[in-house]
Amino acid sequence: MKSVINRSEWRSHMADGVTSVSLLPEHIRVDAQMRDRVCASYPMFINRFFLSLIKKAEDPLWRQVVPDAMELDDDLPEDDPLAEEEQSAVPGLIHRYPDRVVFLVSGICPVLCRFCLRKRMAGKGPVLSDADIENAVCYIRSARAIREVILSGGDPLMLEDDRLCDILKRVSSIPHVRTIRIHSRVPVALPQRITGDLVSILRRFHPLYLNIHANHPNEITARAAEACAMLADAGIPLGSQTVLLKGVNDSFETMEALLMELLHIRVRPYYLHHPDPVKGTGHFRVPVTKGLEIMRRLQGRLPGVAIPRYMLDLPGGGGKVPLCPGYVEQDKNGMLVVRNYQGQRFYYPSG
Ligand SMILES: *Cc1c(COP(=O)(O)O)cnc(C)c1O
Ligand code: SF4
Repeated sequence: MKSVINRSEWRSHMADGVTSVSLLPEHIRVDAQMRDRVCASYPMFINRFFLSLIKKAEDPLWRQVVPDAMELDDDLPEDDPLAEEEQSAVPGLIHRYPDRVVFLVSGICPVLCRFCLRKRMAGKGPVLSDADIENAVCYIRSARAIREVILSGGDPLMLEDDRLCDILKRVSSIPHVRTIRIHSRVPVALPQRITGDLVSILRRFHPLYLNIHANHPNEITARAAEACAMLADAGIPLGSQTVLLKGVNDSFETMEALLMELLHIRVRPYYLHHPDPVKGTGHFRVPVTKGLEIMRRLQGRLPGVAIPRYMLDLPGGGGKVPLCPGYVEQDKNGMLVVRNYQGQRFYYPSG
């Protein structure tokens, strides 16, 4: 049975959010003073719902949101390694690929993830003024090659309904924009925000796609399932993005559990991102070989629809490329030597 959704429940989870380690409940509070020093450079925020999912200190959810002294002490020099600022046509609009743009419509997040790609601005206030929004919309209108607008941030679903609706209206009225995509952590990190009112706004803007950001099976709660069911029932195709993170999901078993949970709640895994080398996130880094090994074990052991592509985002704004474990070992005398998921060798004519 579906529970009755209290319309303002999400607001109280946000209002009661935790902004420093010293204010964490005692059973998950560790090294508060040392960790709180980090907050001066990189703010902390955990809404009350997400906080309730953390079982103990250093568990995979805790690691994603509780500051770590290592954030101030890594050897990654760049806070914008993907050159997002350089590729911003106008403030808040990243135009890297000819046919699509990322529109940073919100500066608010349901939680502040310590590994965020946009750590340079996460939690540091609203990114765009009304004039910036207008300016970005004008740019999209004038750039006829743009076929898709991706709303990101921050988290677009943290905007108030009327503001989000207004942006969706303006973007969708541009004739060459064929699809809109939303990237959001809200369906798992603050599922109460997915209200009937919000869903009825979103469904007016089809074809609208939504990718949820989820990193660990413990994030796939009954509430998240309910939120995704509302979105899927409104005809919104749901995908997922996951960041491969040390100590969070860098094992086959955890990844398998996450992907199967996502599939079960009607979310089609889309990308597994190799972590970007963003200053302050070095302690989450995983070797590419580890990611490839996980991908190799997924193929053949999970339904194909549960398997995302493993993506590397190239430095300097070169764009994303998929990484795939090598299955073809050599090409000898016109024969490919191919290994299957069990590691057995097969010969296959290459021509
Ligand atoms: C990831 C990204 C996109 C979208 O890429 P897809 O492969 O279409 O998901 C678009 N623009 C920028 C700047 C991105 O980082
Ligand atoms: S919700 Fe997204 S934008 Fe916000 S801190 Fe987490 S990863 Fe970054």
